[in-house]
Order: sequence, then structure tokens, then C-alpha cells
Amino acid sequence: MTASAAVFGVAATEEGDDADCPGVSPHPAVPRPGRTKLWWIEESLGRGRVVAHTCACQMTSYELVRCGGLYQFRRHAFARHDVPPVSWTARCWRREEAYAWWRRLLAGQAR
Ligand SMILES: [Zn+2]
Repeated sequence: MTASAAVFGVAATEEGDDADCPGVSPHPAVPRPGRTKLWWIEESLGRGRVVAHTCACQMTSYELVRCGGLYQFRRHAFARHDVPPVSWTARCWRREEAYAWWRRLLAGQAR
């Protein structure tokens, strides 16, 4: 067996059997205790461009949106009475900081 076949075998096992999941975008990790709580509001900076996003198969998905030189997260929440369907981080960041927060969000360290 070649090394690449071994890698493929592991990947195939890790793929779930969720037929609705395109399996392309990351799934954010379960929020950890002690995570940073992001402040979500219902207003955005304006029209922006999505530069990264999490998998749409999840009940809650997130996008990293660039608007001019600033970045903000957009959250889509379906069927949740405690969270509006679309909300935005109250804070916006410059590129480097925004990607650091995006990694924390994916790792469950911020939500
Ligand atoms: Zn998915």
C-alpha cells in the first residue's frame, strides 16, 4: 500500500454520511468553555465581499466579509429563536486581525 492510499483511507473514514454536506467548507468546532464571546448586531458596514465561509449544511454558518479595507463576520442562523437570522459582528478588523479571529471562530475559541 502506498502512502497516498493510506491517507485516502483515513479521509474516507472521516467523511460522515451526511448527504446534505458538500464537504468543501470547514465546520466550526464546538464552542469551548471560556471562549471569547463576540458581540453580534443586526447592522453591517455595507455591501461587502465574502472571502471565507463555513459549511452551509450547519444550522448556523459564518462568513468572513470584506468591505473596503475592513472585515466583519456575518452569521446566518436558521430556526433559532434566540438569534436573528442574519447578524454581524459589532467589531470590524483589518485583514490580519480579522483572519486571526476567523481562525479562533473555526477552532471554537470565539463565537
Ligand atoms: Zn457540512
